Amino acid sequence: MNVLDVLIIGAGQAGLAAAYYCKQRDLTFLILDGSKRIGDSWRNRYDSLVLFTQRNRDALPGLPFPGDQRGYPSKNEVAAYLKEYASHFSFPLQLETNVLKLEKRGGIFIVTTDRGEFHASAVIVATGAFQKPYIPIVKRARSAVSEIHSSQYKNPSQITPGNVLVVGSGNSAAQIAVELSSTRAVTLSLNKKVRFISNARLENRLTLLQKLGMLHAPRDSWLGKLMQRFSRNLIVGLELKNLIKTDRIVVRPEVKSVDHSKVIFKDHTTIHVACIIWATGFTPNMNWIAIDGATDSHNAPRHTSGISPVSGLYYIGQRWQRSVASELICGVGADADLIVRTLDKQLRRSN
Ligand SMILES: Cc1cc2nc3c(=O)[nH]c(=O)nc-3n(C[C@H](O)[C@H](O)[C@H](O)COP(=O)(O)OP(=O)(O)OC[C@H]3O[C@@H](n4cnc5c(N)ncnc54)[C@H](O)[C@@H]3O)c2cc1C
Repeated sequence: MNVLDVLIIGAGQAGLAAAYYCKQRDLTFLILDGSKRIGDSWRNRYDSLVLFTQRNRDALPGLPFPGDQRGYPSKNEVAAYLKEYASHFSFPLQLETNVLKLEKRGGIFIVTTDRGEFHASAVIVATGAFQKPYIPIVKRARSAVSEIHSSQYKNPSQITPGNVLVVGSGNSAAQIAVELSSTRAVTLSLNKKVRFISNARLENRLTLLQKLGMLHAPRDSWLGKLMQRFSRNLIVGLELKNLIKTDRIVVRPEVKSVDHSKVIFKDHTTIHVACIIWATGFTPNMNWIAIDGATDSHNAPRHTSGISPVSGLYYIGQRWQRSVASELICGVGADADLIVRTLDKQLRRSN
């Protein structure tokens, strides 16, 4: 039986950053990913997606992000950069391999995939924080509108002609609502109060926070708690704010129910729509991990700074894994360094 030091599940930015540090430490490893090409999780997002982080914040350790460092890359540029990153460092990887089950027996991890079984002394789960599309349960009677989750949204041509309702208080909801508002009437359902920050102001804040060491402040420290408050309900870009001000986008509260084409909101107001886009986020989906203590009752990973209570098991790329930067490209390198250092020490101790 060929037992590797490490199996990395997921070849997105988090898995690749982990691979970089595994290679630096001469560990034997393999990255497994279900997609056809590196970068597909970015490619599959909506067509007009432009990052809110400048190119100088979009590099992984050891390879600069090409292009104007003060500009904002498209999602396809990020996908191309990740593909280049993997080939630049010649990482061992196997694509089109879906991991179906993770078990641990006799101190060895067994990874069952649709292309056979793999074994390793340690496993890094890098399957992304945005896993299972979440749509809230609302009362429905004979819904006659077309409905999609934001993860299925590509561009306006895909959306049924007529009024559209975008539901969600995050950046995806904001960007989709703005994009659709140039061709149709858009209503945005917000279930919380949002704050707006311009791209330039965000960049200045990020620079300042980095200088003060706050960008990587641990989530449970007082600085980390301050960062959680600062980053909550923040919409990047002022387009939505301006469109709301000029009544080009109408804001309504939470959706209470849908009846045929009529949507009823919490404040009892109603509208008729042709389509609803649920930009309501994602839930974790780690039900393929069959190891006691690895996940909680919501199928979310149990960990401290990415280190699982299960010896040899690590997570990377989780929201607020260690700090506000953990889910961003600019933060994943530091987290990967920490978990691979810990993993390496653990492997050396047990050898
Ligand atoms: C709309 C949107 C905009 C964003 N904009 C920014 C931004 O501007 N700047 C920024 O820094 N961050 C941004 N982010 C956040 C973050 O950078 C991305 O979500 C990024 O894709 C996370 O990378 P990841 O490697 O953790 O996960 P992913 O990119 O999701 O990669 C996970 C990989 O795991 C694979 N996988 C999953 N399950 C399995 C399995 N069972 N078997 C095998 N393979 C599997 C997938 O195929 C995928 O390749 C944005 C996120 C979203 C959703």
